[in-house]
Amino acid sequence: MPSRRSPWMNQDLDDFRQLARTFCEREIKPNIERFIEQKRVDRELWTRAGELGLLCASVPEEYGGGGGNFFHEAILIEEQARIGDSSWGAALHSGIVAHYLLHYGTEEQKREWLPKMASGEVVTAIAMTEPGTGSDLQGIKTKAVREGDDYVINGAKTFITNGYHADMVLVACKTSPDQAAAGVSLVIVPTSSEGFRRGRVLDKIGLKGQDTCELFFDDVRVPSSNLLGTEEGQGFVQLMMQLPQERLIVAVSCAASMDLMLDLTHEYTLTREAFGKPIFGFQNTKFKLAEVATEARVTRAFIDECLDLHVKSELDIPTAAMAKYWSSERAQQVADTCLQLHGGYGYMEEYPIARAWTDLRVSQIYAGTTEIMKEIIARSLPTPVMGQ
Ligand SMILES: Cc1cc2nc3c(=O)[nH]c(=O)nc-3n(C[C@H](O)[C@H](O)[C@H](O)COP(=O)(O)OP(=O)(O)OC[C@H]3O[C@@H](n4cnc5c(N)ncnc54)[C@H](O)[C@@H]3O)c2cc1C
Repeated sequence: MPSRRSPWMNQDLDDFRQLARTFCEREIKPNIERFIEQKRVDRELWTRAGELGLLCASVPEEYGGGGGNFFHEAILIEEQARIGDSSWGAALHSGIVAHYLLHYGTEEQKREWLPKMASGEVVTAIAMTEPGTGSDLQGIKTKAVREGDDYVINGAKTFITNGYHADMVLVACKTSPDQAAAGVSLVIVPTSSEGFRRGRVLDKIGLKGQDTCELFFDDVRVPSSNLLGTEEGQGFVQLMMQLPQERLIVAVSCAASMDLMLDLTHEYTLTREAFGKPIFGFQNTKFKLAEVATEARVTRAFIDECLDLHVKSELDIPTAAMAKYWSSERAQQVADTCLQLHGGYGYMEEYPIARAWTDLRVSQIYAGTTEIMKEIIARSLPTPVMGQ
């Protein structure tokens, strides 16, 4: 269990944490190096997790899920972070794609996809970003043109998490290319569709075991019933409503990583000696670790509050942006401090702190960059009454 038990934990969640912890320790930790080597997790990891009830834990049981809530998703993210794993894209599958289906999917779409997602039979991805646009989602160029009872999709996506393993991709498309936000729709695309092609798994500076891919759509034909929901042009609103949960996922992971980095560095500085004593004995080391412990604790308190709000459906978009901005920036700062305390070993890839340092960097970029988070927060500031 984490050293400080989050106030929202209860017996059911303790049991789920134990299940998640055992799975991470047994099925992921011994294989991390291999996942990094092959640039993806084993496909069987998904089905094993599905068998144990770790996928789609927050999806209702009637759709094959665990019948839990977002606390369950947060626990799995924390347990993954606790073993230093950044390869398995389970949070994107269960915490993001499943929730688009749950909130906006038709009954048929939910019944078709969610049970297979929960069992691990189907792995999913969400494809918003394109080579020409990321932050400015209104500017996407991938088109879904209606032809009879089908959509014909043409375009390209990049940086897509779970891209290699995905059996289904939720694709942000323009159904009205002449319109900006109002022209965006989300379309369910099985990757078995003719005309769908995966590019290579991209070489990244971190998250090296995660199968981040380019995806290509050349005259991909899917039935019009694959439009997420029933109405075209709802995609942008759907994205805006779901992005806070995606940002909270990043925030939870960053907060948990801070705890791991603190533990790793504390242990290292107690055993590594310089000038005849453990480096923890230097005042600078103690002070730096005192700062890290405080940063981690303050961040966790804020994330706990956000999680509680989110489970009560009260987390607003600016607060989720604050959570993501704050925790990703602080985690990177903590990684830097902890790497420094490891000296040259901190620069060696086999040291977990080096991996954390490169893995965490993307947290300030994906799910909306730090700059976009600050835009959202700034827009929410109340207008002051001037002259008082
Ligand atoms: C490892 C990884 C995994 C990813 N997984 C996925 C995925 O599964 N699905 C998916 O769709 N996408 C994914 N992404 C894409 C990610 O969400 C985008 O990279 C991100 O949104 C930024 O978009 P961009 O790369 O096009 O940068 P740009 O939008 O080109 O931004 C470049 C710079 O300009 C700044 N900028 C842009 N607009 C503004 C503004 N209005 N004000 C101030 N500054 C601004 C940005 O903050 C940034 O610093 C992933 C990316 C990575 C690296």
